[in-house]
Amino acid sequence: MTLDRSLDRRARLGTVLAVTALVLAACTGGGAGSSGAGGDGADGGGGGDAAGYPDREITFVVPFSEGGPTDTVTRLIAGPMGEALGQQIVVQNVEGAGGTVAAGQVAQAEADGYTVLMHHIGMSTAPALYGEDLAYDPLEDFEMIGLVTEVPMTIIGASDFEPNTMEEFVQYVTDNADTVTPAHAGVGAASHLCGLLIQDALGVELTFAPYEGTGPAMDDLLGGQVDFMCDQTTNTTSPIQAGSVKPYAVTTPERVESLSDVPTTEEEGYPEIQVGVWHGLYVPAGTPDGVVQALTEALQQALTDQNVIDTLAGLGATPVSEDQATPDGHRQRLQEQIDLWTPIIEESGAGA
Ligand code: ASP
Repeated sequence: MTLDRSLDRRARLGTVLAVTALVLAACTGGGAGSSGAGGDGADGGGGGDAAGYPDREITFVVPFSEGGPTDTVTRLIAGPMGEALGQQIVVQNVEGAGGTVAAGQVAQAEADGYTVLMHHIGMSTAPALYGEDLAYDPLEDFEMIGLVTEVPMTIIGASDFEPNTMEEFVQYVTDNADTVTPAHAGVGAASHLCGLLIQDALGVELTFAPYEGTGPAMDDLLGGQVDFMCDQTTNTTSPIQAGSVKPYAVTTPERVESLSDVPTTEEEGYPEIQVGVWHGLYVPAGTPDGVVQALTEALQQALTDQNVIDTLAGLGATPVSEDQATPDGHRQRLQEQIDLWTPIIEESGAGA
């Protein structure tokens, strides 16, 4: 089925079908991955204070491979957050199924603030993509700590991939849809979502090479084993600047300062290929309010760290504002994004 090319219509669909999304979320919730603690919606954590928290090492779980965009953002903020909390934060990569394996594991972890999930836009697309197979409900099985960053994506090709511009890319992929090899980081990854938008805009069906993160996918793109992918600027800025991959377009309405020569998809006539990635931190539902608050405060502090700000800027990413680095700001974004993407995924035919 063809996706509607208008973002306005997309927004309207999101609103009209919000009820559908809620019903879907309810259907997919409480599965094998439910923490059992029970989410308590917008009201915050599971009560109680943070007495003594943290008194040992905290683990941040990354749902994709080491060296990829989610990993990069996580490792960048883990240092200053650990300093703010007075404890070391270790980063663990739990790969698989487009980030849903890690989310399922964290949903079932002890609700004590020592296991924290870093995830991205995939938290909002997984319910539509996995349906009843999803072992957790993003809204019910987690407490939100806060949003972290906003990151544009870029459509890039291997250096020996024939097209040089977005126009040539569209033509080439349309003409060679059965032989080109795009990469993504699994069903539910941002690169998968962007791939769905590309497929629909071009009216083609592509066969993606799936990876457990776009870190290793980038290695293969650089080696020419795959032809193209759509990935966050936190992974693509350096190879684009080094001239080792071909940039075709940026997927956000505005150009990215650090990649100012790269046009947007909208400028190139494809406003429907538009997606901005956001990251957020989660703990299992039932985590005490005081623990959630301690993590939120540490996040807010880390986002004012000059090294974090400068590094993200160099990678085309932006730390969120303080009011977004909160449980409420995060929960609202997650709900809005579920409402936005669910009908789009259903229309694309990729839904469960
Ligand atoms: N950028 C990846 C994605 O496609 C995930 C990652 O490796 O961070 O969602």
